[in-house]
Amino acid sequence: MTATSTVMAASARLVSRLALVTGGGSGIGRAVCRRLAAEGASVVVADVNQEAANETLHGLSRDRRGQGHMAAGVDVASRHSVRSLVTGIQCRYFQPPSVCVSAAGITQDAFLVRMEEEHFDKVIQVNLKGSFLVVQAVAEALVICGAPKGSIITVGSIVGKVGNIGQANYASSKAGVQGLTRAAAKELSRFGIRCNCVLPGFISTPMTEKVPEKVIGKMTSLVPVGRMGEPAEVADVCAFLASDDSAYITGASVEVTGGLFIG
Ligand code: NAP
Repeated sequence: MTATSTVMAASARLVSRLALVTGGGSGIGRAVCRRLAAEGASVVVADVNQEAANETLHGLSRDRRGQGHMAAGVDVASRHSVRSLVTGIQCRYFQPPSVCVSAAGITQDAFLVRMEEEHFDKVIQVNLKGSFLVVQAVAEALVICGAPKGSIITVGSIVGKVGNIGQANYASSKAGVQGLTRAAAKELSRFGIRCNCVLPGFISTPMTEKVPEKVIGKMTSLVPVGRMGEPAEVADVCAFLASDDSAYITGASVEVTGGLFIG
């Protein structure tokens, strides 16, 4: 296969697939929406910030099957909101999403001894419980409709594996996301649904804009590749995991870190 035909094959991998991306209004989620749309998927851009979701929607390439993309507001921490979203998708497209990327997430950093209980709970609610609610609703819809296959991708973090100063809540939530994904992979394989988790390192997004420059400089110096990652580089991996090119991969955690914390 030539380089050109490889690119063309890759760019058509998701034609006729319907994809739901939470956190699609910003950063990694927005890049994932763009990449999945560029590969031919119809994309539902979902975010708590509906205006941001609409902005992402307007920047997407046209989908080739004519089903169209859509934007929707959702609070992933609310069961009612997630259920309404999935029902709304099924009403519009007459099918559940066969690709789901759960990228919505937040940070509320503080040193462990000073961390407010409510900040711990909030991060767990959005990052961990939110992932659970989204994975559960999409998996249930796929199983009920007898879909032949599905690919669910959660967004964890390398911090869930190695910990990080000031992020006891975030690290706990992201370690939980990895465990959730592995359990889901074991339960859902028999329905043709694969579940994988991406573990980004330090990626340039509005989330990391909040981190003091001094800390960013220190972290970047630890990255063997020598720079922060781009959201599109995480989206590349999500597109691979969404596609049949990863048909024999489930329950995996894929680090997208530029080599940070190897081993
Ligand atoms: P981001 O730019 O802040 O994007 C996150 C999006 O999720 C925002 O649009 C945010 O809306 C939305 N969101 C927050 N709470 C939500 C809720 N309850 N329901 C639905 N949407 C909600 O952050 P990002 O860096 O792209 O992060 C995307 C994912 O990657 C997160 O899960 C994050 O933990 C993970 N991650 C990021 C990095 C990194 O270095 N950037 C590293 C590892 C993992 P608001 O802006 O209105 O809050």
